[in-house]
Amino acid sequence: MKIIDPHIHCVSRTTDDYLYMARAGVVAVSEPAFWAGYDRSSASSFADYFRHLLEVEPKRAARYGIDHFAWLCINAKEAEDVALSREVIALIPPLLSHPLVLGVGEIGLNKNTRNEITIFEEQVDMAAKHDQMILIHTPHLADKHKGTGIITSILKNDARIKPERVLIDHCEEHTLRIARDAGFWAGLTVYPVTKMTPARACDILEVYGREKIYVNSASDWGESSPTLLTDTVLEFRRRGHSEQEVTEVFYNNPCRFFGQSPKWKRKPESVATD
Ligand SMILES: [Zn+2]
Repeated sequence: MKIIDPHIHCVSRTTDDYLYMARAGVVAVSEPAFWAGYDRSSASSFADYFRHLLEVEPKRAARYGIDHFAWLCINAKEAEDVALSREVIALIPPLLSHPLVLGVGEIGLNKNTRNEITIFEEQVDMAAKHDQMILIHTPHLADKHKGTGIITSILKNDARIKPERVLIDHCEEHTLRIARDAGFWAGLTVYPVTKMTPARACDILEVYGREKIYVNSASDWGESSPTLLTDTVLEFRRRGHSEQEVTEVFYNNPCRFFGQSPKWKRKPESVATD
């Protein structure tokens, strides 16, 4: 079967991870722009990072037969520096027409501060002006519920934003409903350390249904792994879901969300049954 990891930071991963993904059936990934683990010193660092996302990673991925797409933005963690953020935002519009850019992301909030909200709103405005899809990072742990509420109310108050072209990522049980009730897509991120285990992700899929949800590893430079996504595939299958159901969640749903961009060519598939 074919799998898509719709949220992974390949710049931080080894070639062994690409090899693992290829062996496990991952055929495509999407990589949102993110924090590097340290604050970058200037906008030119971001210009280089965007080149890495659009030139280097697609080539690395292609060596393993994996399609690589990207999303561009300044992340919430570095948005505290409003002046620098605005310099970075100015770099992005000319890159949005690149054939491997799916939209603006992962934008959102980290600590729910005033500066983060200002830069979030400016990036939503940029996405709306350029008719881009949006990928949203929601805060982890204690700040998640409040942050998700702030993010969705900003998006809902902007008449230019079509909810079906926005994905709210890193959802948990208490935020998934906030996202989907407003018509947004929702992402589940399976982590080794913050308790969103493969079993819990499968519980959520079974309780909430698979409409407008995708599952990702969000692997980066921290404790995370592409194996968490494929373990979730195994757990979902072990529970007796059909191969078609497995394909719907782990391949077709990412294709449905990404397919709203004409740059994404893969289509949802039917799996032959015997
Ligand atoms: Zn991420």
